[in-house]
Amino acid sequence: MFCCDQLGEMASRGFVVNEPIHKLANGRILTEIDTDYFLAFGDERPSYVGLHYCPFCGRSLSRELWNREKKK
Ligand SMILES: [Zn+2]
Repeated sequence: MFCCDQLGEMASRGFVVNEPIHKLANGRILTEIDTDYFLAFGDERPSYVGLHYCPFCGRSLSRELWNREKKK
């Protein structure tokens, strides 16, 4: 599930993954963001960078932000 077509497009090309963090054991997680959305770099042993926001439409994608918003 993606917030916008552009992010879905990136995912279909393999630049963005939408998986729970424990499923990314084949690579290195470079951030400690509580999210299921990651930018992926490299093929054999990818590096994953967690996303707080969609780079295209700006929607928040991390549980960290959702939890922050709930507390307001
Ligand atoms: Zn988006």
